[in-house]
Amino acid sequence: MVSWIMNKTVKGFLIDIDGVLYIERQAIRGAVEAIQYLQKNKVPFLLVTNTTRRSRYSLLNNLQRLGFKIDIAQILSAPYAAAQWLKDNGVKSISLFSRGDTYREFKSFRITPNKPEYVVIGDIGEDLTYANLNQAFRLIMGGSKMLALQKNRFWQRNTGLAIDSGAIVAALEYATRQEALVIGKPSREFFLQGLKILNLPPEHVAMVGDDMEADILGAAGAGLYTIAVQTGKFSSYAREADSELPHQVLASIAELPGWLESPG
Ligand SMILES: [Mg+2]
Repeated sequence: MVSWIMNKTVKGFLIDIDGVLYIERQAIRGAVEAIQYLQKNKVPFLLVTNTTRRSRYSLLNNLQRLGFKIDIAQILSAPYAAAQWLKDNGVKSISLFSRGDTYREFKSFRITPNKPEYVVIGDIGEDLTYANLNQAFRLIMGGSKMLALQKNRFWQRNTGLAIDSGAIVAALEYATRQEALVIGKPSREFFLQGLKILNLPPEHVAMVGDDMEADILGAAGAGLYTIAVQTGKFSSYAREADSELPHQVLASIAELPGWLESPG
């Protein structure tokens, strides 16, 4: 390890994917090189995302196609973090409401429509129907607990804003009077999973993100150092005068190597 890393308080990174490494299937200029730089200097990092429509295998394909040479073990997604949390807590059976290939993260569980221990809710998108919403409702009323892969209100599509699964989770919470356990960012559990994998304490890890709520406030709440990049979502946020957060603002992830090499 080179000397400047030894001198920095930050020894490892959690790096958000969407809006930080790429936007709309295009890598952000300098992002591939920034990741290569971390690898070359043996700085531990994980790529983290709240995406619940894809498994890590799909995410990996996408990243590799854009030129990022990473390994599946370096991706921490909300579905994977949820599967780890369920395993750590001895859960055996679930019912899964999601689409895409998210189910691949839950292969070690018994997936059942009959009294599962947990109802796991991801982004069900266009597959949402009254019938499947009501099925989730009945399971929770029957005693199953509710785990939300994330609780985002909406997201940006090519065609405009779109309702995200947080609104669906809120509907189920309202109807059942139960509160969902949320595992994706900004939940503390998500960041704890990341720290556990990196095997570093929070004060030595920086979260690099473009989302004030999910990335910056979430990570700061778990005790991490926070770096906002002004790509993706962040352009719509202004730093509040009385806030110390984010601890650092960079124009984009391309500036990360320079920041690491700077004194202090
Ligand atoms: Mg993002």
